[in-house]
Amino acid sequence: MNAFKSLEPTNTVNIARWHELEQIMTHAMKNHCFNMVYQPLVSLTSGQLVGFESLVRCESSRYGAVGPDEFIPHVEQSGMILDLGDWIFKQTLSDLSEMRKIGMDDITISLNISPIQIIEGNVFSKVMTLLDKYQIDPAAIKVELTETALIKSPQRIAKTFEHFHKEGVKIWLDDFGTGYASLGLLRQFNIDGLKIDRSFISGITTNNEDFTLCSAIIAMAQRLGLETIAEGIEHREQLQILEQLGCDVAQGYLLGRPSSLANNTATWVKM
Ligand code: C2E
Ligand code: MG
Ligand code: MG
Ligand code: MG
Repeated sequence: MNAFKSLEPTNTVNIARWHELEQIMTHAMKNHCFNMVYQPLVSLTSGQLVGFESLVRCESSRYGAVGPDEFIPHVEQSGMILDLGDWIFKQTLSDLSEMRKIGMDDITISLNISPIQIIEGNVFSKVMTLLDKYQIDPAAIKVELTETALIKSPQRIAKTFEHFHKEGVKIWLDDFGTGYASLGLLRQFNIDGLKIDRSFISGITTNNEDFTLCSAIIAMAQRLGLETIAEGIEHREQLQILEQLGCDVAQGYLLGRPSSLANNTATWVKM
């Protein structure tokens, strides 16, 4: 049984592309066409780099590049995410261990996790095994899960969160405000941070409603003791408003695009 039937394409254009993606992803898995990039996360209180979000990329000479927004739903539906996810964990943790070696001691890594990896993939023990292998403190890891993902298998997910919390791994709710989940989830699940979706940030300086929503989310999060992370910051004015509103962490092209480990270490490590 596949838990992600609802992700299947619904119209003919999508069906054609969906079949094409099947070929592309099968080819990519066989030929190791994936790589990881890292996007900086900057503290709005200290102005310092505090971590990176790890993001997967897929590119082959035969098919060119495909974005994760397109291929992740596909590999979730096909089940390929289980093998791909294992590779993503290994690569990311190995890269984090490289960061430690060059003195990026307090840098954290945010890992995007698909609900199917939790439901069928035993994410907790996989991550713990890798942390143990590289002798990395679990507090260096943040798990990012979308609100829609939470309702796929709430009990299993809550249990996994509990295991992670005991070890000091933090949980961030990704793309906050865009899913179908209710605010009650914040109470039901032990969440540590909210990542305010890019769609709210993009209008924060121009659209009154976006501004009101962002300030309300930040105020609510503060009252609940949750961290706030703003995604998709592209302009200095957006950064300034978020700083004034008391947002904790900033992410976006203004601060740095997702880029290879080597590029990031060259940019951020002061010799
Ligand atoms: P996400 O986790 O919400 O990741 C943030 C996305 O916003 C990334 O797109 C990033 O490149 C993009 N972004 C960051 N700053 C800006 C900005 O200032 N402007 C604009 N226009 N975009 C910005 P990306 O890398 O294409 O990833 C898309 C989605 O794919 C991710 O959304 C996540 O849901 C999924 N994904 C990516 N990597 C992984 C992975 O390793 N595992 C899983 N399960 N999902 C992943
Ligand atoms: Mg994310
Ligand atoms: Mg996001
Ligand atoms: Mg997203």
